[in-house]
Amino acid sequence: MPAYKAPLRDMRFLLNEVFDFPAHYAALSNGKDADPDTVSAILDECAKFCEEVLSPLNLSGDEEGCHFGNGEVTTPKGFKEAYAQFAAGGWQGLSHPTEYGGQGMPMSLGVVKTEMLGSANWSFNMYPGLSLGAMNTIMQHGDAAQKALYMPPLVEGRWSGTMCLTEPQCGTDLGQVKTKAEPQADGSYAITGTKIFISAGEHDLTENIIHIVLARLPDAPPGTKGISLFIVPKIKVNADGSLGERNRVVCSSIEHKMGIKASATAVLNFEAATGYMIAEPNKGLEAMFTFMNSARIGTAVQGVCHAEASFQGALAYAKERRSMRALSGKKEPDKVADAIIHHADVRRMLLTQKAVAEGGRAMIYFAAQYADHMVNGILENDDKKYKLWDDKLGFLTPILKGFLTEMGLEAANLGMQVFGGHGYIKEHGMEQIARDARIATLYEGTTGIQALDLLGRKVLVLTRGKAVREFTGMIAKFAMEHMRNAKLRRYATDLARYAAEWNVLTMRIMLAARKDRDSVSAASHHFLMYSGYVTMAYFWALQAAVASQKLAQGGAEKPEFYKAKLATARFYFDHLLPRAKGHATSMVKPSKSLMKLEVDAFAFE
Ligand SMILES: Cc1cc2nc3c(=O)[nH]c(=O)nc-3n(C[C@H](O)[C@H](O)[C@H](O)COP(=O)(O)OP(=O)(O)OC[C@H]3O[C@@H](n4cnc5c(N)ncnc54)[C@H](O)[C@@H]3O)c2cc1C
Repeated sequence: MPAYKAPLRDMRFLLNEVFDFPAHYAALSNGKDADPDTVSAILDECAKFCEEVLSPLNLSGDEEGCHFGNGEVTTPKGFKEAYAQFAAGGWQGLSHPTEYGGQGMPMSLGVVKTEMLGSANWSFNMYPGLSLGAMNTIMQHGDAAQKALYMPPLVEGRWSGTMCLTEPQCGTDLGQVKTKAEPQADGSYAITGTKIFISAGEHDLTENIIHIVLARLPDAPPGTKGISLFIVPKIKVNADGSLGERNRVVCSSIEHKMGIKASATAVLNFEAATGYMIAEPNKGLEAMFTFMNSARIGTAVQGVCHAEASFQGALAYAKERRSMRALSGKKEPDKVADAIIHHADVRRMLLTQKAVAEGGRAMIYFAAQYADHMVNGILENDDKKYKLWDDKLGFLTPILKGFLTEMGLEAANLGMQVFGGHGYIKEHGMEQIARDARIATLYEGTTGIQALDLLGRKVLVLTRGKAVREFTGMIAKFAMEHMRNAKLRRYATDLARYAAEWNVLTMRIMLAARKDRDSVSAASHHFLMYSGYVTMAYFWALQAAVASQKLAQGGAEKPEFYKAKLATARFYFDHLLPRAKGHATSMVKPSKSLMKLEVDAFAFE
């Protein structure tokens, strides 16, 4: 199993040299404590915990998996102790308000933390990750009493949380939710129904689990407009915060999955369980989606995590494994053969992984600054500010979630490929990374749903192309500014062309959609991937610009780091960005080629 080493140099490059986080934090109302020394110490400590505690449990957690018996789940050996250390270190509440016992740091630092936790051990990261969703929902929509009761133990990590949306008949289409909520005389609700696929739905890491559950009131209108949101604790909580009797929430099984085996995915039966409404009646889905953009960034990070982890394993192997001679002549004449890293095709795979990990990280950090502004809007009760940044983030989120998880999966597969047949063998850990990465394109909205959200909702319906115009405006500005720089001209030229083309494609789809409604769904995947490739190109050009400036300046930092950035940017523009052209061609083809085939004509006996 590759041992995880946090890529701190790259993280510091992005934080300090590319995106100027020190200035960003200084300007935030909750950023004053995130001074450079504190941020640096957090990075070091988090890296240490992930490398020394979580990474060693990754392979054993996969081999052992979770155990289920008598309605209870036992996590793999070592998880309980690691979680206790995680909670004691205050990591759960890193980015939550001090009034609930958190450290009050900006949200972006939590994103940096998540990448390290997730690269070291994604299964482990699922438990605190789901708690974040529950905490954010209560913080935003709970009343004062609910916040006072539930937030401190969640922030402390003493309790954990879940998000209970999915039911057997529906995951994407939550309008079909059937779980019922019957009002009770004491103001609570009796929640009855079955939720499936609930991550961290049952486990032995915390003394209580707070489920956030979607359910319908008896008189609710059908569809998404009739869904309400409830807090349902596994163990009821007394008014003074102490634990009361067991609630009627029963874990009837856990799923046997392809990957993330140490993360318990539970079937939960709510048998007239006591629940408490959160947010307004029938507005549950809206409330749940408040933090959806930031939650989806959490899943987008998974793409980066698996690209990074797989890259680290593949790189080490490619330097050791020997096979034949490099075509340009012997590279290691005293050895029986050259290391495979000297072959161009192996380099293609390694550089793809590196480009995805580092390019994806840059995309995430940029979006995390938007998320910081959005959270500031909430903390300052400034709705206008919240909405402005949530909208900006809303455009980027499906690109990040959809594109980065697809690319993370590709990078994880390439890691196996670099190992040859050994990549398929369990003990090297490379196949685990590919299995663990597979879920990322499915949950938190499949890639198909991200693509529809991006093109259908964010681009066509809500902004009629304005979201693309604004984002490409930033890219075009960068291109113009760097067109005269000989070292960056080729990136600037490509970016200017793609920025213009992205708008043209959007217009063409908008026009086609007037006559042919299926054209939006038909184009959406290609539009998403195209958007992803162009967005990542911008962030590679940005990194190249900073690296080239640093090289020109000289200074104490190693020039090799910056030269590697320039080489990877060149690789990205030569080898990965051209894929956007195929997507551009396909996205404007009539939907007929997809829709014409009759349902019964797909296959014949
Ligand atoms: C390991 C794991 C953990 C999970 N954790 C949680 C959790 O903690 N909480 C929770 O509530 N859920 C959880 N889920 C559920 C997950 O979010 C859903 O599986 C996911 O949203 C997809 O829903 P579905 O499985 O019902 O697929 P469906 O909605 O049935 O989709 C099937 C296919 O149809 C496509 N499709 C559906 N509708 C459309 C459309 N209108 N246009 C185009 N294509 C469409 C989809 O893209 C997909 O390819 C988890 C699932 C797994 C496997």
